[in-house]
Amino acid sequence: MNILIGVSGSIACYKTPEIIRRLRDSGHDVRVVMTKSAKFFVSDIVFQAISGNPVRSDLWDKEAERAMSHIELARWCDCVLIAPSTAHSMATLAMGMANDLLSTICITTEAPVFIAPSMNHAMWSHPSTQLNIKLLKQKDVVFIGPDKGSQACGENGWGRMSEPNDIVKQLESAITHEQKELFKGIRILVTAGPTREPIDPVRYITNRSSGKMGFAIAQALSALGAGVTLISGPVELDTPSRVIRINIETSKEMLDAVMSHAKDVDIIIACAAVCDYFPKEMAEHKIKSNHPEMMIELQKTTDILKSVKLSNEHIFTVGFAAETKNLSECALKKLKDKGANMIVGNLVGKGIAFDQDSNALSIYTKAQQIDIPFSTKTVLARQLSVIIKNQYANWKEVFNKEPL
Ligand code: C5P
Repeated sequence: MNILIGVSGSIACYKTPEIIRRLRDSGHDVRVVMTKSAKFFVSDIVFQAISGNPVRSDLWDKEAERAMSHIELARWCDCVLIAPSTAHSMATLAMGMANDLLSTICITTEAPVFIAPSMNHAMWSHPSTQLNIKLLKQKDVVFIGPDKGSQACGENGWGRMSEPNDIVKQLESAITHEQKELFKGIRILVTAGPTREPIDPVRYITNRSSGKMGFAIAQALSALGAGVTLISGPVELDTPSRVIRINIETSKEMLDAVMSHAKDVDIIIACAAVCDYFPKEMAEHKIKSNHPEMMIELQKTTDILKSVKLSNEHIFTVGFAAETKNLSECALKKLKDKGANMIVGNLVGKGIAFDQDSNALSIYTKAQQIDIPFSTKTVLARQLSVIIKNQYANWKEVFNKEPL
């Protein structure tokens, strides 16, 4: 998961590197945003070294904003953990202020926000703080701690930040639970890999698709609680756990498989690189090599995504656009031509996208464009899944209200 750690100015900052180390050991990608006061306690270099990522603290840093803007950071993260969270940072969040980078991210992100408070016991029990706690809980902010015990000021009471180990345990169990629920009850059909269009019994037309992106999406959706059926062209990949896999070879077989499963699903994600043309006639026997020249007549394949939407309006459809140039223009055209709800665009070419483990995506809907920066296909698949869930939920609400 992508976890954004917010660090605000409390002496408990010295424990935060330990939280980050444990989260990274569990395989999470961590980025740190510090408030100005946090920097008085621990240097940002410590957090950079321990998180393996550049540390952000300034909303007005032009260079850093160019690399990953506050909006991109807010979309990048699957959850935010503020540890330590001071009385001031809690008040800022409770009021919905956006006066520094951390608070701006917190009111931009759709990811869950967790806070591990840390303050003197008198500050914790003050009516203002108690009111802020109520407000934050109303806004679904999840509290981890604080604990009771000796405090840096020499006093004793509630307000000690929980131990790093406990914070990580509680965060991970909350996230896992929440994630498993995200697609609960939603059935999804994913197509992946290339198709093969036979020329004769031994030769075929195909393309460079490895199927990695489609398989990563099927895996992410399944982990997020969806019931996933994966219709795959010929690829060298293992079936993700709890995913039903149907193997096909030609575009016609993929069309038939999609059509026969469509009535049972809520969402179709067409990640397959379906051949756009197939040989009009397949030679019965192997074509001999003694022709100085030969022509193969090709015919357009049926557009699976378009056909399935035409006969199943109730399905939310997501298509892909792998382009070598003019990405947004092509993606928006496909959105319209295929009647799709969403097109996921990516640039392809030599050494980009095909058979690679990393990529960057631009997502197009009628109303907006969302960019996901360069990352591994596993991470992209998670982020894309969360975006699909949000878009699907919004669309479904409108679709259900429309008169028949
Ligand atoms: O038209 P183009 O092939 O560029 O569009 C790509 C998108 O359309 C992908 O989502 C792909 O899975 C889908 N597609 C399809 N049927 C085809 C060709 C492409 O569903 N025959």
